[in-house]
Amino acid sequence: MFFKSSKINEFRLWGLLLTMLGMGLMVLGTAGIVFWGQSGKVVAAIGLVIGLIAMLASLAIYFWAGMLSTSAVQLECPECHKLTKMLGKTDRCMFCKTILTLDPTEATITADQLEQQQSADVTSQG
Ligand SMILES: [Zn+2]
Repeated sequence: MFFKSSKINEFRLWGLLLTMLGMGLMVLGTAGIVFWGQSGKVVAAIGLVIGLIAMLASLAIYFWAGMLSTSAVQLECPECHKLTKMLGKTDRCMFCKTILTLDPTEATITADQLEQQQSADVTSQG
C-alpha cells in the first residue's frame, strides 16, 4: 500500500481524494466556459465527464470500504490497547500504525511477548 496507515483509513483517504479530484475537475471545467467561451465548452464537457467518473469511483471505494469494514476483524491493539479493525491477515493499527498480523509465521513478536516486554520496560524504567 502507498501510505503508512491501516487499509480502512487508506480506502477512506482515496475516496476523499477522488471526490476532491472530481469536484475540482467539474469546477475547472465550468470555469473553462467563463475563460475560453465557446471553445471552453469542450473542456467543460470533458471535465464534467471525468469529474463525474471520479466521483462515482470514490462512491464505489466508500461503498467497498464499508463492505470491507463489516468483514474486518475487530481486536484490541497490543501496542496502544485501543479497539482497532484490521483487513486481511496483515494490517496496521488505525491509531498507532503498528503492523499487526494474524499469521503466526509472519509475526516477529506475539502479543504475550510484547506484554512481557512492556512490563519489563516499566520495571526497568521505574
Ligand atoms: Zn495501536
